[in-house]
Amino acid sequence: EVILEVKNLTKVYRGAKGETTALKDVSFKTHRREFVCVIGPSGCGKSTLIRTLAGLESYTSGEVLLDGKPVTGPGRDRGMVFQGYTLFPWLSVKKNVMFGLEMNGMPSEEASREVALWLELVGLEKFANAYPHELSGGMKQRVAIARALVNQPRILLMDEPFGALDAQTRCKMQTHLLEIWRNIDITILFITHDLDEAILLADRILVLKAHPGEVQELIEVSVPRP
Ligand code: ADP
Ligand code: ADP
Repeated sequence: EVILEVKNLTKVYRGAKGETTALKDVSFKTHRREFVCVIGPSGCGKSTLIRTLAGLESYTSGEVLLDGKPVTGPGRDRGMVFQGYTLFPWLSVKKNVMFGLEMNGMPSEEASREVALWLELVGLEKFANAYPHELSGGMKQRVAIARALVNQPRILLMDEPFGALDAQTRCKMQTHLLEIWRNIDITILFITHDLDEAILLADRILVLKAHPGEVQELIEVSVPRP
């Protein structure tokens, strides 16, 4: 089952200094419950790709389909986790996750239950009433993951989520993310410039190779799980 389909995606930034082609004719698919990593050198367009898929950035041409429907802007069918901790410092852990929950008339009791469930999944149920400054870096990223998952998106888009963590914490978070991924019905697209991280996490690695001005090469590598 194809979840995300990207067809000939091209993104040209137009600015005072002229044009920059950040993505050129990029095509790939991700399947249900697949863990796909995108790697490539700095400046090859990784962030542009994920921001475009998130709907935070428009694209110049091509198609982005989620469950066969065109992506036109941000939506709760996609969860996002960035490198920086994008938690609200003035809100408790619970309220931070609650903030991500599109309520749609959901009674607050039900919303609380929903949030508690996701905090349990990331192992932070005891920290529901803590504030972000009281948490370690890894714990903050776990809150961000809970917030990204609380609307039960079809795909989780992660942009170097563990890039700011020390090596030991990063390693723990990688294991933790794999555990979450195995336990729920989620497809993950994960950007990293760390090849070891990609090999550890991914079913499939997409290598974005930039040739300025030319068609961008996308090399696919399958990674069998042990
Ligand atoms: P990566 O995440 O792989 O480092 P980016 O997607 O950030 O790559 O950048 C791809 C290219 O697009 C680079 O040449 C970068 O300078 C350019 N770029 C990124 N964002 C913008 C922007 N907002 N305006 C103009 N150029 C940009
Ligand atoms: P990280 O999540 O950044 O890897 P650690 O797991 O090293 O952080 O934990 C940092 C501190 O927070 C430690 O003192 C640890 O005991 C505590 N801690 C982290 N997660 C939990 C948890 N689920 N329950 C209780 N304490 C925790």
